[in-house]
Amino acid sequence: MADKKQNRRNNRNNNDEDFNPKFRKQRKKVCALCSDKNLVLDYKNAEQLKKFVNEKGKILPRRATGACAKHQRDITLAVKRARHIAILPYTQI
Ligand SMILES: [Zn+2]
Repeated sequence: MADKKQNRRNNRNNNDEDFNPKFRKQRKKVCALCSDKNLVLDYKNAEQLKKFVNEKGKILPRRATGACAKHQRDITLAVKRARHIAILPYTQI
């Protein structure tokens, strides 16, 4: 136990950036809806909205969709509307 702690400290001192996956360098995601102006979110388009929900039917977080705050709100609203008119499921077993 004590050895592990010591190792971690040593690695950090050695500037091993790949050691902790939490701090590895990430490529900045670009919002798909911002980059493509022709892409319009439609709550009646189930195929489009399926990209923003997981297999359980939950709406994916921004870190997964890569959407900006404004477009994530649009996605959430569209998914909720689609659920209401039974295009998307609220839940899946
Ligand atoms: Zn955006």
